[in-house]
Amino acid sequence: MTPGASAYPHLLRPLDLGHLTLRNRVVMGSMHTKLEDRARDIDKLAAYLGARAEGGVGLMVTGGYAPSWRGWLLPFGSSMVRAAQARRHRTVTDAVHEHDGAILLQLLHAGRYAYHPFAQGASREKSPITPFRPSALSTREVGRTVDDFARSARLAQRAGYDGVEIMGSEGYLVNQMLTARTNDRTDEWGGSAAARMRFPLEIVRRTRELVGDDFVVQYRMSLLDLVPDGQSWAETVDLAHGLVEAGVTLLNTGIGWHESRIPTIVTSVPRAAFTWVTARLRQEVDVPVIASNRINRPEVAEEILAAGEADLVSMARPLLADADWVRKTEQGREAEIIPCIACNQACLDHTFDNKRATCILNPRSAHETELVLSPTRSARRVAVVGAGPAGLACAVELAGRGHTVELFEAAERVGGQFRLAAQIPGKEEFRQAIAYYEHMLGVRGVRVHLGMRVVASDLEGFDEVVVATGVAPRVPDIEGIDHPSVLTYPEAIREPDRAGRRVAVIGAGGIGFDVSRALLHEPDETVDEWRERWGVADPWEERAGLGDKEHPPVPREVHLVQRKTSRHGTGLGKTSGWVHRTELRDAGVGFVGGAEYVRIDDDGLHLTLPVEGGDKGERRPYVLAVDTVVLCAGQESVTDLVEPLAALGVPVHVVGGADVAAELDAKRAIAQATELAARL
Ligand code: NAP
Repeated sequence: MTPGASAYPHLLRPLDLGHLTLRNRVVMGSMHTKLEDRARDIDKLAAYLGARAEGGVGLMVTGGYAPSWRGWLLPFGSSMVRAAQARRHRTVTDAVHEHDGAILLQLLHAGRYAYHPFAQGASREKSPITPFRPSALSTREVGRTVDDFARSARLAQRAGYDGVEIMGSEGYLVNQMLTARTNDRTDEWGGSAAARMRFPLEIVRRTRELVGDDFVVQYRMSLLDLVPDGQSWAETVDLAHGLVEAGVTLLNTGIGWHESRIPTIVTSVPRAAFTWVTARLRQEVDVPVIASNRINRPEVAEEILAAGEADLVSMARPLLADADWVRKTEQGREAEIIPCIACNQACLDHTFDNKRATCILNPRSAHETELVLSPTRSARRVAVVGAGPAGLACAVELAGRGHTVELFEAAERVGGQFRLAAQIPGKEEFRQAIAYYEHMLGVRGVRVHLGMRVVASDLEGFDEVVVATGVAPRVPDIEGIDHPSVLTYPEAIREPDRAGRRVAVIGAGGIGFDVSRALLHEPDETVDEWRERWGVADPWEERAGLGDKEHPPVPREVHLVQRKTSRHGTGLGKTSGWVHRTELRDAGVGFVGGAEYVRIDDDGLHLTLPVEGGDKGERRPYVLAVDTVVLCAGQESVTDLVEPLAALGVPVHVVGGADVAAELDAKRAIAQATELAARL
């Protein structure tokens, strides 16, 4: 037995489903990459999923496919409604089966979450997160929709899928039919919990009838709706019993509707934060249940299974991050797993922006056929200067291709801006990213020089030099900027104790939000502390798991100041910005907008602010009486090496923040560095 296998006996144990044996307990959860939407991307989708099958995943679930055009998530989005589509999907199922994987097609009817004017819902109520008011399905249309699900499942079977997953959670149509919140029907599909439940039960029953016994019918249940008037626990359990009777093979877990105001997967949600509720469901049913949400490491997955909380674990983003997650686990190479830091920046934020999903730490993900890092045929000596995200990614990938790489870093440790991020409460996962790169530098044989600030002449003799020297914090031109009360953001993050009790943060970008959080909260929150802060109750105590929030006491008064008059944090990630805003609001942060900075002195930060209801341009003076002012006013590129190197005739490549600081952005930095590594 390999070292990894012995460390993860529960995770790597096969599961016999009767007609199909899964090779381990790892489920790749459904995640829309956008490769699902266009017929011409099918080969890319097959390459993406095939790579995960080759990497050893036990059971995979595709992104969502609508069972009818009215159920599309987006106009002309993915669907499984025609025989021609099923034939095309053979490419996908063959790619997975070639590597002994198993794959389910997810059937998702968007209901009122559809982003098109033909949306249909349980009733006419518009969702708070989409612009389109749905029409209410007529009684006949509900019956037809049940048939649509079953027919799509049959097509999936013809396409070679091992089964389907019926998407019954996250607030999509099936979930909408289940709750009084969204189902006010007076026909046989509404009016009581039992009537509302008929929809998913009929879908499963009809599907099972059409596909026979030797086909997986997995159902993704909403265990915690986390919205007012969501399901009670008794209803959830009744539904589970009904689903088992109707013929489901496996029950997967869904947590929270998309419109819920409680985060369920962002990085500040502690790992495995919801397995307690899956464990409770497992006691109720005799089919295997799958735990999900914020499970990213083999040891976390093993612990869940060893504790008997679930039979399988679902991971979507972690398997997007690393196709070889399972293989590395089996071989005892867990430290080589490209970690999912749950940042959402390149995956879900892309999906919600209608762009192809990938991974911040692995830009090859979902681009397997386009960004290829093949062994080099002309190995060169490459110097990489700067060990932030861009420099680390570049060094690791260049060395992986067979180049001889030396990495120079002025600080005593690698990580750059990631090391700052890792110190922010709720961003602890960034530690994993640094640990991964540190480990890979060793695995790939990169020679690392720490505490060394190089000058151009040190780099003579290298065939190529990559300048990844990053950024320096911008110091705005404000009178009194040298006042002892002023800290830069790296100073405030590294030594929060230097900040007094009353703080003004200048600049409300991602870093201003992060710094505010660091001044108010403690890192490494436990699941219980997190649940209290967000009011996540036991669903058997409170309907839908909605309890009261308990805000922990905060040590400081923080004012987050910006010149813009728009809402604070509009530039933050789509899927995470609202979480940051809520956290700061809950911690009592004052949001000050429309400011013009006048000066900083012993009295604090002097501003002028627009006069509410006053004439255009009319302003009033205002003093924020604070002990500390923290500068989070963006960054400037550090490029001092570029010209001297060019003068020496050394081929220079500039990547990351050193190239563009305006949008200092790890996603762009790592993608740019990886693309360079693929080219050199
Ligand atoms: P940023 O987003 O550019 O924000 C800096 C803010 O400082 C600006 O919004 C601007 O706001 C203000 N500012 C700029 N120049 C100024 C000046 N001369 N004087 C006073 N104020 C000035 O930069 P950041 O906060 O450093 O974040 C950089 C990047 O890091 C982000 O774009 C993001 O990619 C990444 N990041 C994201 C997150 C996250 O999403 N949670 C967290 C950390 C970092 P006003 O003009 O309105 O005053």
